[in-house]
Amino acid sequence: MTDPIISIRRLRREYSAGDETLAVLKDVDLDIHAGEMVAIIGQSGSGKSTLMNVLGCLDDGWTGSFTFNGRDVRKLSPDGLAELRREHFGFIFQRYQLLTELDAVENVEIPAVYAGAARKPRRERAAELLTRLGLEERLSHRPSELSGGQQQRVSVARALMNGGEVILADEPTGALDSRSGKELMALLRELHGEGHTIIIVTHDPAIAAQCQRVVEISDGVIISDTGKPTPKAAADAQEPALRRTPVWWGGIDRFREALFMALRAMGAHRLRTFLTMLGIIIGIASVVSVVALGQGSQEQVLENISAIGTSTINIYPGTSAADRRAGNIQTLVPADAAALAAEDFADSVSPQVSTNQPARYRNVSANASVNGVGPDFFRVGGRTFISGVSFSQEGIEERSQEAVIDETAAQTLFGTASAALGEVIILGNVPVRVIGVVEDQSMGFGFGNSLNVWVPYSTAMARLLGQRHLGSIAVRIADGADLAEAEQHITSLLGTRHGSIDFTLQNTDTIRETIQSTSRTLTLLISMIAVISLVVGGIGVMNIMLVSVSERTKEIGVRMAVGARRSDIMRQFLIEAVLVCLVGGLAGVALSFAFGQGLTLIMPDARLAYSMPTIVAAFLSSSMIGIVFGFMPARSAARLDPVEALARE
Ligand code: ADP
Ligand code: MG
Repeated sequence: MTDPIISIRRLRREYSAGDETLAVLKDVDLDIHAGEMVAIIGQSGSGKSTLMNVLGCLDDGWTGSFTFNGRDVRKLSPDGLAELRREHFGFIFQRYQLLTELDAVENVEIPAVYAGAARKPRRERAAELLTRLGLEERLSHRPSELSGGQQQRVSVARALMNGGEVILADEPTGALDSRSGKELMALLRELHGEGHTIIIVTHDPAIAAQCQRVVEISDGVIISDTGKPTPKAAADAQEPALRRTPVWWGGIDRFREALFMALRAMGAHRLRTFLTMLGIIIGIASVVSVVALGQGSQEQVLENISAIGTSTINIYPGTSAADRRAGNIQTLVPADAAALAAEDFADSVSPQVSTNQPARYRNVSANASVNGVGPDFFRVGGRTFISGVSFSQEGIEERSQEAVIDETAAQTLFGTASAALGEVIILGNVPVRVIGVVEDQSMGFGFGNSLNVWVPYSTAMARLLGQRHLGSIAVRIADGADLAEAEQHITSLLGTRHGSIDFTLQNTDTIRETIQSTSRTLTLLISMIAVISLVVGGIGVMNIMLVSVSERTKEIGVRMAVGARRSDIMRQFLIEAVLVCLVGGLAGVALSFAFGQGLTLIMPDARLAYSMPTIVAAFLSSSMIGIVFGFMPARSAARLDPVEALARE
């Protein structure tokens, strides 16, 4: 006689309830040979299901010895047990245990998915099995669209999917009407005839009578066993094995299935999924917008600086900004500017004094920033004239009462830029005639939209301020001249003229650096806030995933029963978390673009610079959030015990 396929010795299963331990199986010995059809009967609570769960490797908490086909089950890892369930067992449960979101074919093919069978033969085989069981019209029906008997036939097909060498059926007819029950028993007998080993748990003697061998269990002990077996030679139950894909491709396939399941799950709980995503959406949208806004303003400012010219040096009185503010250094005079203008490296030189004065035109009055400048100022500063011209050299010499104003000033005082030319405005109490209008130069971040009026520096010094010294001198360096060398020249020239270094030089490069570092700090600060909101969003994802795991415990149990490895379960939930976060990230980026569009409608001057690296970083961080915050729930799903998960309602 052949060795038994299942051999159990001194099997004990105890449950601890509080301080007490309750022995449900008490030193059970049982041999089952290949090709047998065994009924396990007994009263409710006698330990039938407990025994069945041990036989099916769903339960791990027993002591004793158990060999399956000569393999010591005790020594198998969780994945090893999953492999046994997947490759050798087929389960039929009282309550069918089909996955509600999948149709009949998809339910049947699950064991083959975890076995790494190729998609096409897998689907074909699932459809064949269903057809054979009389469900050819119901292939794409979901469990809720099937009768109990049909659902149970789907679960039989699922049990046969990977061969179903040993079929374990726990009260398979318990939920069926008598006719469906009879049909199911006929089907099981037919499978027995084909060589499958069949173990049925039942409390119904009529069912047991149809089996070749009856084992009766009472209070955890086998009290009778009809069959000292007379097994017929086990026929070859194995249907031709499905073509397996290469291991690496199987991995991709399982990934695709997990992705598909995650999408199904998300689709089934749309509102919940959306609310979960909301945190991520807002977080990503704010990070991307803030960075784009910061980048945009910075670009704007830098462009304006470039417009001023890369090679401009400003000379201020005083050895530092603090010194300058004291305001009593009066050594920088127009003659210095004239001396600098004579040098080769100077393309143009513009002396400057500035003051704030009320500007009036008829009954309109506004505070203006008034700058006394030289005729070259607009060239040095790269300003564009809309109409009119700059001052002439004669104007400077004669302290002419002429002014150039910017668009903002023209609009404020005259209503339109075109009405300004030739009109007389009163600065403080000095009347000046407008001879030119230049374009506005926004400094970004909302700066620089004040009214600007320029008059000859001589006019400003003599008529507005009553002073003989300058506020600053701007020198535009000739093309091809070296900036550093020019700075040295200026220092030595003015140092000699003044007798000491009582001035500071500032070139546009240093301004640019200052602005860049300021806006970087600002962006960093706001980004920190956005990152906090991302973390909060991530915690939301984790919460919902944990809820989802406990809600779908049953599904996890079913998947494990048909052979899913821990890593398969882990992957499914992790993918779901990452998917939620990725879609949230995508929506966040879209929201940020929408925000940018909205903002430019309200504030045409605002500029957002979306950069590819930011967007890529947003996606990376949202998937990281999915992985980090999805890990815990995914792991707790994967660690579930198959029996316990199945028992959960
Ligand atoms: P049945 O023969 O009706 O299938 P079971 O095998 O389900 O009986 O249960 C046998 C005994 O084990 C029952 O008394 C039941 O209360 C107990 N039992 C089953 N599962 C657990 C569990 N997870 N924890 C504690 N006791 C359990
Ligand atoms: Mg039971």
